[in-house]
Amino acid sequence: MIYLDHAATTPVAKEALQAAWPWLTEEFGNPSSTHELGHRAGMALEAARDAVAAWLGCRGSEIIFTSGGTEGINLAIEGLALANPRGRHIVSSPTEHEAVLQSIEYLVRHHKFEVTWLSVDLQGGISLAELKTALRLDTTLVTLMMANNEVGTIHPISRLAALAHEVGAAFHTDAVQAAAWLDCNVAELGVDALTVSGHKLGAPKGSGATYIRGRLAVEPLLHGGGQENGRRSGTENVAWAVALATAVEVLTKQKAEVARIEAARDRFIGQVQNLVPTAILTGHPSTRLPSIASFCVPGLSGEALLLELERREVIVSSGSACAAGSDEPSHVLTAMGFDAELAQTAIRFSFSHHTTEAELETAARALADAVAAVGGTDKIA
Ligand code: PLP
Repeated sequence: MIYLDHAATTPVAKEALQAAWPWLTEEFGNPSSTHELGHRAGMALEAARDAVAAWLGCRGSEIIFTSGGTEGINLAIEGLALANPRGRHIVSSPTEHEAVLQSIEYLVRHHKFEVTWLSVDLQGGISLAELKTALRLDTTLVTLMMANNEVGTIHPISRLAALAHEVGAAFHTDAVQAAAWLDCNVAELGVDALTVSGHKLGAPKGSGATYIRGRLAVEPLLHGGGQENGRRSGTENVAWAVALATAVEVLTKQKAEVARIEAARDRFIGQVQNLVPTAILTGHPSTRLPSIASFCVPGLSGEALLLELERREVIVSSGSACAAGSDEPSHVLTAMGFDAELAQTAIRFSFSHHTTEAELETAARALADAVAAVGGTDKIA
């Protein structure tokens, strides 16, 4: 089997699981307990926090461990918007992940926030000039993703954050897809909040972290014992925090693979366009994640292509994993200006640091075969 759906989820790194194991077994203490077992768990948690903070270029006290991307995004968006009395205006983009869209929707529905949705061009890009115009004196928060999960387009986060700061708004970025591939130093990016998810970078599902700049007030989503500096109550998941810190260490050692995957991605895109001349690359041609190659194949259903590829033991996704199985066309592609019919032909290949060129060559050929098979039977009318 050739698994090319790493943007949906990627396997847990062996090192991360091994590092987590003791904290699930003999070292099972509650980090808040005052006895030795608890104390050791607390030390492990803080060491993990410092490691994640070092990776993101911030202080340990600015890291909140979460259950993953969705929780971190909810915490950053709702937590910052509700704790900041500046105003009730948010700026974002319609190509954000549902976790962002629905967090904003919640604030609009229940807390009378207003949103300005920036427009998105055909390649998934947003305009700095448009953001500048959208910003208001009552803009509390700007939230824009670092890289898109369906088409891979990368946004110029440091420039966008600088514009938000001109009017005093806080800036959050969803770095869930970017974190395994791009430099996420929060000081260099100039962001106030940034969210990562463990299961996209070699840690288990249900792990994650959000950076929130020290001075900023945040309204917690979870109320209780006051863990995580009162910003996320609940007994901390020490094992998953250790796993996340270890996965990040492994990632850092794999940095050299990023350029290899980027080159392999470009060769793969070339092969696909050669073998399937009708395939349209979606997203920005170069300012895109090394790990994502996504296409529309006019006239052919993405779901049908996915099934044909699976029969050939190539595992991919049609659009994003969250939308998989739904009949709705991708909200990302429609926001980029694709018509609904074309959006339904989307297919996404996503890679890990271990993906080989031989696998990608096989996948490109399998796609050509799948296109031929679907073209005969499952054309969109
Ligand atoms: N943001 C982006 C860009 C994603 O791709 C995902 C997951 O696919 C999420 C947020 C949600 O993360 P999680 O699955 O950890 O809740």
